[in-house]
Amino acid sequence: MPELPEVETVRRGLEPVLVGRRIERATILDSRLVRPFDPAIVAAELEGERVAAVERRGKYLVVRFESGRVLLIHLRMTGSLRHDPSGALPDDPHRRAVLNLDNQSDVAYRDVRRFGTWELFEPDELEDYLARRLGPEPLTRLTSERLGARLAGRRTTLKAALLDQRTVAGLGNIYVDEALWYARLSPLRPAGSLNAEELTRLLRGVRRALRLGIARQGATLRDYATPDGERGAMQREFRVYGREGEPCDRCGRPIAKTRVAGRGTWYSPDCQT
Ligand SMILES: [Zn+2]
Repeated sequence: MPELPEVETVRRGLEPVLVGRRIERATILDSRLVRPFDPAIVAAELEGERVAAVERRGKYLVVRFESGRVLLIHLRMTGSLRHDPSGALPDDPHRRAVLNLDNQSDVAYRDVRRFGTWELFEPDELEDYLARRLGPEPLTRLTSERLGARLAGRRTTLKAALLDQRTVAGLGNIYVDEALWYARLSPLRPAGSLNAEELTRLLRGVRRALRLGIARQGATLRDYATPDGERGAMQREFRVYGREGEPCDRCGRPIAKTRVAGRGTWYSPDCQT
C-alpha cells in the first residue's frame, strides 16, 4: 500500500507533466472510483480544467486547478498513475480512468483491487475535509512536542497510534516499523509512555525512514510504480520490515515478527525497548 514516500514520488513525477496542462478529455471507466457520484458527470466536470499545482497531504495527492477546484486522489492499496508523453499507453485491464491533456499526453489511473478514490472538491471545501482526517505532516509541520501531545494519555500501542492518520499523516505499516527501528522503540510500547528524549528519537526515526523512502522512490513490493513505470528501491533498505529471523543490522540478534493492531509487525526485541 502506498505510504507517504510512494505518494510523494508519484507527486514529483506528475508535477512537471500536469502543471499548466488543460484536461481536454476525461474518461472514468469504473464507477467505484468516484461513487456515490456519476462517473460521466465527474468526467464532464474535469474537462476544461487547467492544473495549477500538484501537492501531497499525507497519503493523498492534491491536484489543484486554476478554477480553485481540487481533485483529491487516494491510491489506497493498489492504485497507481502512469504518464505517457505520446498518449499511446498500451491496453490495461485494470485501467480505471484516463486524462487526455492538451499536449496530446495522457495520464492513466490503474487499480487492481479498486479501493482507490477520486473526489472532486469545490474551492474551500478541501481544508476542513483533510483537517478532520489527518494529523500534521511529519517532514514539515511536526515537532517532538507536538508529537508528544498527540500521543499523551493514549494506552494503545505505539504502532497502532502511528498507523492512525490523525496522529501523524502519511505513515503506514512499512514506514512505522522502519521508523521504530531507527528510534530504538518497541512497537508494543503504550503510546503515551514516551519521555521527551524518546519522543525526539521517534520524530528523527520517522523522518529518517520517510526521507530514505523518498530518496529510493518508494518501495515496490507488488503493484507500486512511479508515473514513468519505474520500480522503487526502498525494499532493499528495509531494516526490519519483512525480515523475520534475519540478524538485526544494529545488534545482530534475530528480527521478530508479531501482530500489532491487526498488522504484521517486525522489530528487533533486543534493541527496540
Ligand atoms: Zn537489534
